[in-house]
Amino acid sequence: MVLEVNAERLMADMRTLAGFGKHGAGVSRTAYSPPDIEARQWLAARLEEAGLEVGIDNVGNVYGRDAARRSALLVGSHSDSVPMGGWLDGSLGVIYALEIARRAREEGFVGDVGIDVISFQDEEGTYVGWLGSRSVCRELKLDDVRHARSPHGEELADALARLPASFGPEPEMGRWVGYFESHIEQGPILENTRVDVGVVTSIVGIRNYVARFRGRADHAGTTPMNMRQDAGIQMFDFVHQFRAALERVRGPQTVWVFGNVSTKPGFNNTTPSDVELLIQFRDPGSDVLAAIDVAMSEVVDEVSRLHGAQIEIQIVLRTEPVAMNAGLASEIEGAAADVGASSVWMPSGAGHDAAAIGKYIPAAMLFIPSIGGRSHSTEENSHESDIVRGANVALNAAHRMTAMLGRQAGKQNIRAC
Ligand SMILES: [Zn+2]
Repeated sequence: MVLEVNAERLMADMRTLAGFGKHGAGVSRTAYSPPDIEARQWLAARLEEAGLEVGIDNVGNVYGRDAARRSALLVGSHSDSVPMGGWLDGSLGVIYALEIARRAREEGFVGDVGIDVISFQDEEGTYVGWLGSRSVCRELKLDDVRHARSPHGEELADALARLPASFGPEPEMGRWVGYFESHIEQGPILENTRVDVGVVTSIVGIRNYVARFRGRADHAGTTPMNMRQDAGIQMFDFVHQFRAALERVRGPQTVWVFGNVSTKPGFNNTTPSDVELLIQFRDPGSDVLAAIDVAMSEVVDEVSRLHGAQIEIQIVLRTEPVAMNAGLASEIEGAAADVGASSVWMPSGAGHDAAAIGKYIPAAMLFIPSIGGRSHSTEENSHESDIVRGANVALNAAHRMTAMLGRQAGKQNIRAC
């Protein structure tokens, strides 16, 4: 049986959701902003119409539970955006999940394993990255992050005060036998290789560091070159050597960025006394990340020795790669073949809620092509034909997953007896 989404209904909902926080061709719907909260209330009403028992929890996750079943495949993504972001991003996976829940009910294809739907809160990290999914996994306690601030300096506690009181069923890890998230690729690979859907193998691990270089502020005209302690020169030497080291130890999918440099006093007549450099690198392999960590500390030692200076490196974020479940991923591949779509296995270079959830239960992700690979910009877009084709793959994949997970649960019950 090959299932089909209601394409007109799907696209209408996608466009309605994009109306909340509309900004040019994209959206500005950061977590807990008024349009984000309105969009969550709108989504809750749609999930209720789809026959789910609906709740919004104490951090703002919108959750629809298939009340007739004791276990479920959780399907969803996030509906918050970055400032001046795109209309698809996580919203695509949220509307796919809504449509999957409706089609499951209309077709009556759900057996013992139901379809639950979720839109996680603050995936983009306006206050705390992956706040919604990490709180569902009990990886963070609200009390520990209440004072986290947005880039505008607002505390999370004040943002939470804008949420209406929580209601309905709480998202509950214990009931889910798998998690399935669809998302735009946010990169150019599917478009460039003309493949319809990506089947995600793993989500990259990320390291964020801040490097601090200390020198001395001196007159930039009167201090001879050999008497200067220029923190800027230390930083340039470090970057130069670290780039060479990266090229030596990198894997084929390693990426890195030096995202910001700030210097003090930051004046053209003065040698810099303090420089701060933001460093980030990502890779789908823990071994590669560990090798880069080692290479970086060797470069730090070398440049410190060269300049007789103390370079300080502080880790700000450390996430390990998370493998997606191969069994569930195979169902995406199978579903793509069923609907006549081409597919390719690929890692995700971006972080996703599936990385938080996938540490605890089997998780899978599907990507659709992004035009020009653009994302986190109002230019972000995908062809309507790709959106609908991806939804058909997702629907059939969810159907296959619930059947597979149901068979597995059945076997476990027999064993338990
Ligand atoms: Zn996203």
